Amino acid sequence: MDKGMCLWEENVRKVTPYTPGEQPAGKRNIKLNTNENPYPPAPGVEQALKNIDADLLRRYPDPNGEPLRSAIAGLCGVSKEKIFLGVGSDEVLALAFLTFFNGEKPILFPDITYSFYDVWAELYGIPYERIPLDPDFRIRKEDYCKPCGGIVLANPNAPTGVELAQEELEEIIEAHKDVVVIVDEAYVDFGARSVQPLLDKYDQLLIVRTFSKSRSLAGMRLGYAIGNEKLIKYLSDIKFSFNSYTINRATILAGVEACRDQEYFEKTVDRIIRERERTGERLQNLGFEFFKSKTNFLFVTHPSLPITELFDYLRERGIFVRHFQKPERIVPYLRITIGTEEEMDELIKAIETFAGEHRA
Ligand SMILES: *Cc1c(COP(=O)(O)O)cnc(C)c1O
Repeated sequence: MDKGMCLWEENVRKVTPYTPGEQPAGKRNIKLNTNENPYPPAPGVEQALKNIDADLLRRYPDPNGEPLRSAIAGLCGVSKEKIFLGVGSDEVLALAFLTFFNGEKPILFPDITYSFYDVWAELYGIPYERIPLDPDFRIRKEDYCKPCGGIVLANPNAPTGVELAQEELEEIIEAHKDVVVIVDEAYVDFGARSVQPLLDKYDQLLIVRTFSKSRSLAGMRLGYAIGNEKLIKYLSDIKFSFNSYTINRATILAGVEACRDQEYFEKTVDRIIRERERTGERLQNLGFEFFKSKTNFLFVTHPSLPITELFDYLRERGIFVRHFQKPERIVPYLRITIGTEEEMDELIKAIETFAGEHRA
């Protein structure tokens, strides 16, 4: 037994948790480290929250998150039996791992991807294998065409921002009709192609999406899955064995409003995409390198500037970006969330100064 370990600690389930991006206090910071949306949610969301009837909070919310579930079903053009709601897509994914990965063969996901996947696998004791991305950070479909317990792919991938072509993704899904394939579409709204058209063809396909990024509701915690009725039923059975009332009344009201205002949604997403392209060009002019992003962030490296020093330099000036310590291969990279035009101007200015000092 370790020195300093209490008697009862032997029976404790010990895990290494996921490390979320820093949430610095104070509004003056430029926060480009957790892929949040720089714009507020649709105006209707604020109204709905202002008008909330506090007396109703005495009552439990609808256990299936109605009427939000129907609103999301409408948005996606599917019946509500194909929709499952969760407290952020993190909860949806955690419950999906618990529900669908109950086999003995390892589940497969890339070595460089959302770093919560291996945390859930460890938590539940699910065997897993990390499949290395190729040197261009691409998923090689051939690597996934082998027997396994399930597959999880973020598309576009995070933190690389790289999209896997629909045809290649379909080959992977087609080769695995015997296990559930989860496609995490957290960033799909920023210009990528959804696998949703394949849902009718593959009943083992589960798509997971979030309101945290493109719909500006990270603070509300709302995510959902789309899949065929049978998958959703299994997922719901696990949820109802854990917590019946996951979606609270405020989230239901806010979520419905966020679904309603499609015009605002498209306007803000377009603005972020445009700013991503403008920032990409400016970074390129400063010698940065990156692969084409279909997300609200850029994953960049530089052949001569020291990335860790740049990270610290920006942080000292209240500009927060994300730097991952593992795997080794991505240590020379920074993941930069696309903020407002003004925020990106500040970022570029700071990088220019750093580069100038560094050359001097
Ligand atoms: C942000 C993110 C999530 C989690 O989003 P929440 O809905 O806020 O829990 C899931 N997957 C990926 C790839 C993400 O980047």
